[in-house]
Amino acid sequence: MNYDAIAIGAGLSGCSAAIQLAKLGYRVLLLEQSHYPMHKLCGEFLSVEVTAAFEHLGILEQVHKIGAQPIHRAYLTTANGASFRSKLPSTALGLSRYQLDLMLFQRAQAVNVTCIDNIKVTGVTGNLSEGFTVNTTKGEFSGRIVLGAFGKRSSLDRSLNRAFVQKRSPWIAYKGHFTGVDIADVIELHAFPNGYCGLSQIETGEINVCWIAHERVMKEPTHPELDIPESLAKNPVLADRFRHMQRVSSSLQGLSQISFELKENFHNDICMIGDTAGMITPLCGDGMAMALRSAEIVVPFVSQFLEHQITALSFKQQYAIAWRKEFQTRLQLGRIMHNCFIQPPLANMGVSLCQMVPALGNWIIGATRGKPQQLLGNELASNALS
Ligand SMILES: Cc1cc2nc3c(=O)[nH]c(=O)nc-3n(C[C@H](O)[C@H](O)[C@H](O)COP(=O)(O)OP(=O)(O)OC[C@H]3O[C@@H](n4cnc5c(N)ncnc54)[C@H](O)[C@@H]3O)c2cc1C
Repeated sequence: MNYDAIAIGAGLSGCSAAIQLAKLGYRVLLLEQSHYPMHKLCGEFLSVEVTAAFEHLGILEQVHKIGAQPIHRAYLTTANGASFRSKLPSTALGLSRYQLDLMLFQRAQAVNVTCIDNIKVTGVTGNLSEGFTVNTTKGEFSGRIVLGAFGKRSSLDRSLNRAFVQKRSPWIAYKGHFTGVDIADVIELHAFPNGYCGLSQIETGEINVCWIAHERVMKEPTHPELDIPESLAKNPVLADRFRHMQRVSSSLQGLSQISFELKENFHNDICMIGDTAGMITPLCGDGMAMALRSAEIVVPFVSQFLEHQITALSFKQQYAIAWRKEFQTRLQLGRIMHNCFIQPPLANMGVSLCQMVPALGNWIIGATRGKPQQLLGNELASNALS
């Protein structure tokens, strides 16, 4: 069968784009290498903009029913003892990726996307003029458009010879679910030398603990009581949290070579969305909202291309412009904040400054995320195409 669109990767961006395109009447194939449901490495903090996206995708009610944890406040601390507390501009959510990604995958199935998990894409050939062949561990598929939604780093990036994979990245991350402390409706971010750790409550009442650090922390001795690299325990609040927490996850999930390099919106005519197009630093807690938003941005252009209303060149140019307009500043600000937060003197100065001038802290929180009402304009655009 020849599909109108094939999305590679059934994370947030792939599922969202697939659902929207299927709702517009297109034949869509969604391919995922893992088997659902599964845990994913993530801070599991959903920024406010996602509410509109969830509603548009038809999962908002389910998200609330499952008990996504409302998050109203933020608490930032540093190893030197500085701290900043803030009220979030609107309610954010704590929800495990185990539930969220499954919900989206099932929603895609419900709107007639052909969904296949346990299938790995190994290569893609073709172009926008002649169509594509997608090679997988279970055979070949053909489609007019291919959406690359395979996340921050995939073996496919290497097969496609993408530029960013040639460069080694020193960032590693770990995540697990814990019990034993009550942080209520607060997203906590604790800086330590060479990294930072986020804590937020999810739908089970457990605390998702997710930290990112320079790989050099793995060479450090482990803290004798807490079983974490010593650097993390240099933040007194974080050390105290670990002292009271018990791990629920059978093991921690880890990931290396996390890259915040600029990536292309198209590679070999494959249209990239979500982290595959560019990833914001986890400190901002906005990657999932951005992944969903990038799918909203691309869908009207995909539709116009499939309807022969725009050329391949115009599709590529317009999507790249729209993507940059929406995300470029946020990505740059995210990188600056990340680089400050991992260096104790700068983290201390920044957090102390936010403590003295709360408006600055609130501005940073706002500037690293999108505006909730932005969905409306795009929704109208895609409705107009249907
Ligand atoms: C340490 C850390 C903490 C984070 N914390 C937060 C947070 O608290 N809040 C937030 O909003 N964001 C956070 N993020 C960012 C967020 O996780 C991502 O931005 C988001 O998951 C991107 O969604 P996506 O759809 O682009 O990719 P993903 O959700 O990663 O989905 C990609 C999918 O593609 C599949 N895939 C890969 N290769 C292939 C292949 N060859 N064939 C088939 N399938 C393939 C993968 O299995 C995966 O399911 C964090 C990131 C990190 C690294």
